[in-house]
Amino acid sequence: MASIDVKNIVKEYGDGFLAVKGISLDIADGEFMILVGPSGCGKSTLLRMIVGLEDITDGELLIGGERMNEKAPRDRNLAMVFQNYALYPHLTVRENIAFPLRLHRGEFSEAEIKSRVERASDMLELNDHLDRKPANLSGGQRQRVAMGRAIVRNAQAFLFDEPLSNLDAKLRGQMRTEIARLQRSLATTTVYVTHDQTEAMTLGDRVAVLSAGELQQVASPRALYEQPVNLFVAGFIGSPPMNFLPGELGGGKIRLPFGEFDLPDRVARAAGDRSLVIVGIRPEAFEDAKLTQPRDGSFQFEANVDVTEWLGSELYAYVPFQTHEAVEAKLAELERQLDSEALRTQFVVNLDSASRVRDGDTAA
Ligand code: ATP
Repeated sequence: MASIDVKNIVKEYGDGFLAVKGISLDIADGEFMILVGPSGCGKSTLLRMIVGLEDITDGELLIGGERMNEKAPRDRNLAMVFQNYALYPHLTVRENIAFPLRLHRGEFSEAEIKSRVERASDMLELNDHLDRKPANLSGGQRQRVAMGRAIVRNAQAFLFDEPLSNLDAKLRGQMRTEIARLQRSLATTTVYVTHDQTEAMTLGDRVAVLSAGELQQVASPRALYEQPVNLFVAGFIGSPPMNFLPGELGGGKIRLPFGEFDLPDRVARAAGDRSLVIVGIRPEAFEDAKLTQPRDGSFQFEANVDVTEWLGSELYAYVPFQTHEAVEAKLAELERQLDSEALRTQFVVNLDSASRVRDGDTAA
């Protein structure tokens, strides 16, 4: 096991295009680090530079304190799990898992290989499938074999590139739990690329959010959610996403698309001397006024609900405004079930968690 230090790493592809623009990231020994961001942000490129499948244009990569820039992938002792599993179709599950051990010819005895394959297949519940070929396995089982191949040797770190994106939603949920359990029991440093919010928020000790080749923020899932450093992170983390509303400040008031309200202290502090701000309100900050008491820092407004979506445990309400596209509210409950007919409803919004963001806007 080892720490991974990414120091101001740059990736320039042949045509002068910068896919990674100087990213620094210290991943601690045993840490589970997620790289997340929209398509094309450079997360796979960064992972491939760590594993050695792409050259590093500039900057330095240290694994366990040792410079790796010039080392071939096989000398970095990292185990990578790919999205398409990359199994050998002509080999059985047993032979696929054993493959990395046989690569290092002579290093492992047959008895050692057998016991390691058994240990990995025990952990991944693959014992009943050891003599099958990949074509005769389900998607989830193939993914497990790919993970078996990663854990069979004592790699310094695991690198995952969107390992669950070919699985259906239910299986993705199961495999996510298995990966979390596996990583916890092995405590191996892990870097995991995904664009899936749930994977990012549930698996990672920390999450690095990338956009256009740049690191936006690296923090625990909770800190990203509650203290995003800029509008990109605020809008990217959270599903459904944060609503961004224009706000006008003056005379101790804030004017929002749904009315004018006393300016909460925290918003005032975050806004400083600006008169125009963007206020970010998470969908779950809205509540049905009939079911809650207004609190300090919260305000009430009445608005038409345009469309509702009921998902069993929660209800999404779309609230359109003349001056702004619809706001999405996520309500634990509504006093009465709304039907498709537009209804006027009283909402309460709590703005007291407003926080300052880096580029001077305000997010609540
Ligand atoms: P996705 O989620 O879609 O896989 P990503 O964040 O992993 O996206 P990368 O695959 O790292 O993105 O690609 C980052 C950028 O680099 C993209 O704009 C991509 O088009 C570009 N890119 C990737 N590989 C090459 C290459 N071999 N030559 C030139 N440009 C490339």
